[in-house]
Amino acid sequence: MTPPIQLHNTMTRRLEPLRTIAHGQVRMYTCGPTVYDFAHIGNFRAYTWEDCLRRFLKHRGLQVLQVMNITDVDDKIIRDAAAAGLGLDDFTARYIEAFFNDLDHLNVERAEHYPRATRHIPQMIDLCNRLIEGGHTYASEGSVYFRIASFAGYGKLAHLDAAGMKPGARVEADEYTKDDPRDFVLWKARKDGEPFWDTPLGPGRPGWHLECSAMSMEYLGETFDIHTGGVDNIFPHHENEIAQSEAATGKPFVNHWLHCEHLLVDGEKMSKSKGNFYRLVDLLERGMDPRAIRYFLLSAHYRKQLNFTLEGVAQAKSALTRLDDFLERLVREPATRPGDLTQSVATARQRFDAALADDLNTSEALASGFDLLREANAAFDRGEGSAEERRLVGAFFDDLRYVFGIKDPVRDIGLEVEALIARREEARRARDFATADAIRDELLAKGIILEDTPQGVRWKQKS
Ligand code: AMP
Ligand code: ZN
Repeated sequence: MTPPIQLHNTMTRRLEPLRTIAHGQVRMYTCGPTVYDFAHIGNFRAYTWEDCLRRFLKHRGLQVLQVMNITDVDDKIIRDAAAAGLGLDDFTARYIEAFFNDLDHLNVERAEHYPRATRHIPQMIDLCNRLIEGGHTYASEGSVYFRIASFAGYGKLAHLDAAGMKPGARVEADEYTKDDPRDFVLWKARKDGEPFWDTPLGPGRPGWHLECSAMSMEYLGETFDIHTGGVDNIFPHHENEIAQSEAATGKPFVNHWLHCEHLLVDGEKMSKSKGNFYRLVDLLERGMDPRAIRYFLLSAHYRKQLNFTLEGVAQAKSALTRLDDFLERLVREPATRPGDLTQSVATARQRFDAALADDLNTSEALASGFDLLREANAAFDRGEGSAEERRLVGAFFDDLRYVFGIKDPVRDIGLEVEALIARREEARRARDFATADAIRDELLAKGIILEDTPQGVRWKQKS
């Protein structure tokens, strides 16, 4: 019997069985990137974990409707776009493109929707109007604020009591315009020289929290199943999302709140503001295999902190090499006499499913795979392994590779590389050397080195 899926809910601090509102479908919202810079691999810890959750739910036969926002207007974007002399869209375009390239390198499945804040201003105005009508707001110097005192449940996610809710150390320049420092801005009044939208709320732009409430409810409904993010999102971002959404609708906003712990560098959170971050391209340029980076990020349970180390990625790489060698052996060697592998696969499957159903215990799920790998290697060494047993073992590892997003180096990567090489050859024939070089660089970034030989183009993976 497949065990029911239990997930840790930040709201209750307990494991809870996954209940979906629509039968057989999971509606899930994921806080996405703020596109004023390249994402760092700390961010990708969150995105690969969310991808693994998505894949596991699909592996269990659930349909997933996932939405990830793209924050393409905020203070930092406005500041940096102005410094670059670009409009918002021109400035964010390159970071959005880089973000999707990075997701591809890490084999993250695409969500169903990637709504951009700047494309959903009307929905945010509507939500703000509902809050104004409900008496949850006040206006001050052209901005609209949410009055926290008007929402009794404030603090329930972060488990704050009223006394413990101190304003953060960082006080905004316009803080003095609020009645209570904990109140947060829904709509920011236009500032001189900054981009703005002319709306019934006055000229200005949306606050960050408003965007996630408006866009999640637009695509997923007023109540949905799962909301994810990193632990730094719990307060104030998700607390504020709950306040805005529930104050407007009078309904529960989200049933399961899931948060992943941080990726650390030398014991400190990897973050843009600390400057201690690696971008994915930096790591690929050092010759790291993106499969190993992904595997490393998923190898620890998501609610435990993970320290980023080069040895950690090297260990991930050697685990993948063992897996690749084993899968190659599985197809290369001929079938022999039957042994006990049918039972070993059944045990591994049960362990794998139980581990993932237990709050996505990825390390235990991987251990079930490597135990099976060891048993199967030993059986093959003894001359055991019928065609049917090999098929069952292969099917188990197909599932493991799907849930963990481990590309098959021969089938998946090979096909992708061959397609790019064919495009490069075409460009070279057309004497479009700029495109040909760009494709070579793209392959290099994926860890693929090309060699032009008299027999044609050969490729190999950087070790
Ligand atoms: P940001 O672009 O900072 O809003 O972050 C995007 C996502 O990455 C959010 O879900 C954050 O919680 C998450 N995140 C940021 N830093 C880290 C980190 N060091 N480790 C894991 N997740 C992170
Ligand atoms: Zn968000």
